[in-house]
Amino acid sequence: MITSVAQLLQRHSEQRARNVALARWRIDCARYRGRLLTGKQRHYCPTALWLPVDETCIESRECTCELTEFERLPQRPPEPSMGETVGWALILIMVALAVVITVIQWHHLRDG
Ligand SMILES: [Zn+2]
Repeated sequence: MITSVAQLLQRHSEQRARNVALARWRIDCARYRGRLLTGKQRHYCPTALWLPVDETCIESRECTCELTEFERLPQRPPEPSMGETVGWALILIMVALAVVITVIQWHHLRDG
């Protein structure tokens, strides 16, 4: 079998990513479960608020994930996207503005 340097590097980085994912999985299992989940169906489950879940957990009864071989590998929950963050910031600003306007109106009404 001929293996190019690129393939070796590719394999190395995949292995590394997998090790990082597994290390995170161990940390999250210890933090949220107090034990390491090693089941075949282990994954971060969206129906369990992205907690680590495998077939030994109660939450797995509610789980409707159809996991592919890839997704079954411990994956990090998706980070909120930039758009989502900006959206929330805007909502917060709007609410703050509404409060300020209400207070100003209330003062005007009271003063005459
Ligand atoms: Zn699930």
